[in-house]
Amino acid sequence: MKKQGDLALPGEDLAVAEEFMAGDGTYEINGIVRSSIVGKIFYDMLNRKSNVIMVKKSPLINLKKAKYVIGVVDSVTGENAKVSVYSVEEKNVGDSISAILHISQIANKRVKSISTYIKVGDIIRAKPITGRIPISLTTKPNDCGVILAKCSVCGNIMFKEDEEHLRCTYCNNQETRKIGLYVVKRNGRKGSQKE
Ligand SMILES: [Zn+2]
Repeated sequence: MKKQGDLALPGEDLAVAEEFMAGDGTYEINGIVRSSIVGKIFYDMLNRKSNVIMVKKSPLINLKKAKYVIGVVDSVTGENAKVSVYSVEEKNVGDSISAILHISQIANKRVKSISTYIKVGDIIRAKPITGRIPISLTTKPNDCGVILAKCSVCGNIMFKEDEEHLRCTYCNNQETRKIGLYVVKRNGRKGSQKE
C-alpha cells in the first residue's frame, strides 16, 4: 500500500475496498479502490466506522492550466521527444513528470525531423496541452522552446546567435533549434559581453 501523502496517478491501485472505502478523488472497481485524479493520498485513519481513502488534488498538478513547464529532453525517437518535467511554472516538482512533445507541436512550420530543432539534453520551456500523464507539450508559442543547450561537438553551453541559431563559445559550432526564452544571450571567450 502507498503511504500517506504519496502522489497518486489516475487509475492507480490505492487500497483494497475491505480496508478502505472510496472517498473523494477515488473510485472502486472489483474491490480495489483506485485514484481518479492526480493528487496526494489521504488515508483517513480516524474514522472508526469505516476507513476512507481520498485523493486531494495538489495545486501544481493542474497541468493543463499551467502557463509553462520546464523540462529536459530525455530521448528523441521518430515523431516524439520524451521530456522529463522538473518544474511547473516556478514550482519544482518532487519527482519528474513524464511528457511527450510531438513533432507537429514543435514549431509553427513543417518540421521534418525533431532533432533539427530539439536535441537530447536540451532544457526546454513548453506549454502543456493535456493534463493527463504523460502530458503532451507544445513549444509553438514564442516564449517556448529550447532555453539552454550544450554544443553537440564539445559539450559547452551555447549562446543564442539569432532567432533560430545557437553558437558554441568554445569551438564556434553553430546549431539550429526552436528557441524559447533562451538563458544565455551572448558570451565571449574572455568573459561575458552584455547586449
Ligand atoms: Zn562546441
